Amino acid sequence: EVVQVGGIGVMAFSNMAELVNYVIQDDGTVFSGSAIAMNPEKVIAASKNPELMTILNQADVRYADGMGVVKVMRRKLGRKVERIPGCELWQALMAKAAITKTPVFLVGAKPHVMAQTVEKLTAMGVNIVGSQDGYFKDENELMSRIAHSGARIVTVAMGSPKQELFIGKCQKLLPEAYYMGVGGTYDVFTG
Ligand code: UDP
Repeated sequence: EVVQVGGIGVMAFSNMAELVNYVIQDDGTVFSGSAIAMNPEKVIAASKNPELMTILNQADVRYADGMGVVKVMRRKLGRKVERIPGCELWQALMAKAAITKTPVFLVGAKPHVMAQTVEKLTAMGVNIVGSQDGYFKDENELMSRIAHSGARIVTVAMGSPKQELFIGKCQKLLPEAYYMGVGGTYDVFTG
C-alpha cells in the first residue's frame, strides 16, 4: 500500500519482517529493483532538488525510515505502520540472505571497513560473491564485475546521492538484482 508523503509515494509496511519477506521470499526469490529509505530530511531536500526528486521517484520501493514519515502514513492510513531503520533492515536482509544462500555483492565505505564487513558477514554464512570499497576509480569496470558476479543483492554505502546514482546505472546492466543504498551502515556494523 502506497501513501503520498510530500508528493512522494512511500510503501506502508506493518513491520520490518514484512519488508524483508517482500525483498527475499522464503523460497529465495529476490525482488528485482531498488529500495530507498525515506525520512523528512529527504522529503524536504527533494522538494528543492529536482535531481534528488527524480532519484527518489525512480526507486521501486520507498519505505519509512523516519518518525515524521511514519506519522504522516499512520494518520492517512489509520493503521499501524512501523519505522524501518535502514541499518537494521540491511542486517535483517543479510541474515535472511544467509539462510536462502542468496549471492551478495557489497560496495562502499573505506577499505578496512569493507574488509571487516566481508569478514563478519562471511562468518554469518552470507554468500559474498564480490566486494569493492567506495573509493574506486573505474566505475564501468566495477559495474561489469557486479553484473558478472552472479549477485542477486547489491548494497551500496557511499552516502546520498552518490550511492543512488551508482545504483541507477548498475540497474541498467543487472536489472534482476535487488539494490539498496545503505549510507554509513557498514561503519555501524563494524564499529
Ligand atoms: N563513502 C564512500 N565513497 C565516497 C564517499 C563516502 O564509500 O566517495 C562512504 C563512507 O566511507 C561511509 C559511507 O559512504 O562509509 C557513508 O558516508 P556518509 O556518512 O558521508 O554518508 P551519509 O550516510 O551521511 O549519507
